[in-house]
Amino acid sequence: MVCAGAGMGVDSGLPDFRGPDGFWRAYPPYRRLGLRFEELADPVHFAADPELAWGFYGHRLQLYRRAVPHAGFGVLLGWARRWPVRVFTSNVDGQFQTAGFAEDDIAECHGSIHHLQCTIDCGQPVWPADDVEVDVDPATMRAVPPLPACPGCGALARPNILMFGDFDWVPDRAAVQLQAHRAWLRGLRAADARLAVVELGAGTAVPTVRREAELAAAASGALVRINPREPDLRHGRGVGLAAPAAPILQALDALLP
Ligand SMILES: [Zn+2]
Repeated sequence: MVCAGAGMGVDSGLPDFRGPDGFWRAYPPYRRLGLRFEELADPVHFAADPELAWGFYGHRLQLYRRAVPHAGFGVLLGWARRWPVRVFTSNVDGQFQTAGFAEDDIAECHGSIHHLQCTIDCGQPVWPADDVEVDVDPATMRAVPPLPACPGCGALARPNILMFGDFDWVPDRAAVQLQAHRAWLRGLRAADARLAVVELGAGTAVPTVRREAELAAAASGALVRINPREPDLRHGRGVGLAAPAAPILQALDALLP
């Protein structure tokens, strides 16, 4: 079981928004505006200032579409060809799909930027953002209309991502993924199978991924925690490795029989 947080994307050159400085280094225009990541990733902007909101998410959509998954993804994919592997990630970037993992083997607990939802939740099911292009002015980081719209009712669309203080997120797609994930874990336990949990770049600030990894490892296996800043295991069987994802996955792969 692969559990991945924001640190997993860093070796692909994706920003992890760590601290205001990390965020503003990736997005200089927001430093001028004094807007931190937590303030921008607030769903209120889709109602109050849609061009600001879509400037941020439209830029990220383009960034994640262009991103090339690093060599560590290839290592994991190789493992997935030898053993049953499932992915649990808080990343919304779709990098596991891009790397070649089957859609059905991935649970995205915070949603995906490659899917959209209606801002007024008219009943339109979550839909893929494949055909969506958002034009963003790089000087102001504001989106240029027309902005993405709901195919059901024509209202403004937004990414199907769980934002901060987000009561409007439509969790249906993630819920189906999580259900499949839980069923897989139950099946492993029923078969008394041993589980290796490989956790990558999952921090303590939003501990969803770490908790998922710890619980799964405690139930039926061991945890390999790969994290350059927070590698410590508080309890349970396993090992913490203070290293970035790509090189350590390649090193581990070389050690496997
Ligand atoms: Zn709608």
